[in-house]
Amino acid sequence: MSIFKKSEDKQQLATVDEFRQKIESAHMPSGVRQIAERELEIMGKMNPATAEYTISLTYIDYLVNLPWNKKTADNLDLARAQKILSERHYGLAGVKERILEHLAVKILVMNKKPRILVVDDEVIARDNISHILKKENYDVVTAVNGVDAVEKLEASVFDVVLTDLKMEGVDGIGVLEMARSKYPDIQVIMITAYAAVDSAIDAIKKGAFHYIAKPFRLDEVRLTVKQALEKKLSSVSAKGSVLCFAGPPGTGKTSLGKSIADALGRKFARVSLGGMKDEAEIRGHRRTYAGAMPGRIIEEIRRAESSNPVIMLDEADKIGGQDFKGDPESALLEVLDPEQNQSFVDHYLDVPFDLSNVMFIITANIADNIQGPLRDRMEVIEFSGYTEDEKVNIALLHIIPKQVREHGLSDCAPVFSPQAVSKIVNEHTREAGTRNLERQISTICRKIATEFVYHKDAVRLIDITPELIERYLGPRKFFIEVTDENNRVGVVTGLVWTESGGDIIFVEAAQMKGRRELILTGSLGTVMRESAQAALSYIRSNASSFGIQGDVLEDRDIHIHVPAGAIPKDGPSAGATIAASLISLFSGRPARRDVAVSGELTLSGRILPVGGIKEKILAARRAGVKTVVVPYRNKVDIDNLHKDVTAGIEVVLTDRIEEIVDKVLAKDRAGDPASGAGNGQGTLK
Ligand code: ADP
Repeated sequence: MSIFKKSEDKQQLATVDEFRQKIESAHMPSGVRQIAERELEIMGKMNPATAEYTISLTYIDYLVNLPWNKKTADNLDLARAQKILSERHYGLAGVKERILEHLAVKILVMNKKPRILVVDDEVIARDNISHILKKENYDVVTAVNGVDAVEKLEASVFDVVLTDLKMEGVDGIGVLEMARSKYPDIQVIMITAYAAVDSAIDAIKKGAFHYIAKPFRLDEVRLTVKQALEKKLSSVSAKGSVLCFAGPPGTGKTSLGKSIADALGRKFARVSLGGMKDEAEIRGHRRTYAGAMPGRIIEEIRRAESSNPVIMLDEADKIGGQDFKGDPESALLEVLDPEQNQSFVDHYLDVPFDLSNVMFIITANIADNIQGPLRDRMEVIEFSGYTEDEKVNIALLHIIPKQVREHGLSDCAPVFSPQAVSKIVNEHTREAGTRNLERQISTICRKIATEFVYHKDAVRLIDITPELIERYLGPRKFFIEVTDENNRVGVVTGLVWTESGGDIIFVEAAQMKGRRELILTGSLGTVMRESAQAALSYIRSNASSFGIQGDVLEDRDIHIHVPAGAIPKDGPSAGATIAASLISLFSGRPARRDVAVSGELTLSGRILPVGGIKEKILAARRAGVKTVVVPYRNKVDIDNLHKDVTAGIEVVLTDRIEEIVDKVLAKDRAGDPASGAGNGQGTLK
């Protein structure tokens, strides 16, 4: 027993020693180091068989393995960044331009020769400091006293000020206050006689960066100025720099984020916020909990082994929800806000970690779903869905080569024809982005790889033609919805904007004997239900102008339904579509299925602008719509679209519901064979 005990003691001592050394070489800030050392001391006295010992050990291990001072050097070559973006990503011209502008500003800030103001009424000290700093290739200006310094600060901008504390007239504190009030990012270093260290500490409380006591060492001056400049740069480059990539899935947001990291030479990590149920996933659990862990941000930084990675925070519009524990918004603000994130405290670490060097990129499907102060911090860059041509090009240039590589087919790469890719896009996917397309191509590559393995002598060069697609992917899964069926009374095609891009809906209206009720089904939200009521009221009050006789509600119920019933739908933009379906119903004129309507309707019949125009038009194309009716006030959005998006589609701009009646409704009444009105199912009497 006693031999055991001794060997255990020895082992414990060795562990403590090992960790002491690790703490030594972990380059922690001094406060953190003290805490780690204290924890190690406590741990050294614990019984190694206890749970507390393991908790302590894991904690210290975590602290020493964090990249406190480890950073990758930024590659600030804009031409290289541009090359990476254009080689890896097809199209997205506007997005790439915004990103390069963002990087350009960063580069400009980082590459600027730093300007330093040295303030001292003692000639020798002033000359000495200025001499050292000039040798560091800084742009140095001197001021002979506080008054002179204030004048120089009024006249031009500096990055760092070194000022003597005791001066006649305006003293160091006066210079500090003036400098900080005019330029909040400026860093001020106090120079003080040894005896006056207390007042220097006061100055730090008032916002000074640090102090240097006279007589100073040259190294100390150099190092302190360098650190002050780093702080200034990180606070400037962090400002407003939270990019938010917003758009439907599969439009290249993640891959572009990864390219930004590669262009800058930084590590890349992703944290998904969607579906998070607990604030502790961001901020960590306190160590008192059994099995406590740090939050995902700190965990990713540790894994990246670098304190300045690019971290992508995915699905910021899906965070939270009613059963979320804690306040997700304030936790995220703490992570993203340059004022707060220099000393981000993860509950597990319980010591501040500087996140100001991390470049955060947020992604969301719809940026408008992010609210409040978080939204104000972000610079939103919109990603939108792709046209068929764009998808084919992305597949041929990027997705296919990648999938071929990943499936070990590089030596005998199948050659996809553009027609075959088009067939996959149109018949096997229905999406705004390219996720499913990538999945289908991956299926084909997997099947080809399997064939090669089974039939070693098979022909190795395969041309993927449209005919082969069915063999690999089976019969077509998606059909052109609007041409599948006949025009019907009371059924109007509408356009919606969802998280996964645009989509088409069919608003159906029917009437039957009843007691003047309006029945609404199809999981419609409040706003959509109100739109339906407004549409009905408008039509009733203007019945004669639509050729409708008598009171449409007399002895009748009206039923409006929007399939698919299980998917919740809301928003005002179906107002005009609902109105059109009611006019079709009451007038008996079938609605043209290949005309899609989107617009908010007012009680006076005006049509107001709607969001997501590009996504809606792309969805209309995918579904085979020929004419799109949108509010006149969306003209600017239409004008901004690339001509490929609207090619072959007639866009009708309108201000009033009356103007669209003849566009949307076929001329003849139901039952007339010329109208193609099918069975007139909308009129159930
Ligand atoms: P998101 O993050 O928006 O869901 P991803 O970045 O994951 O989209 O993109 C899905 C796939 O489509 C990836 O393989 C990506 O490389 C590819 N992709 C999407 N857009 C482009 C583009 N413009 N150029 C090249 N590849 C693209």
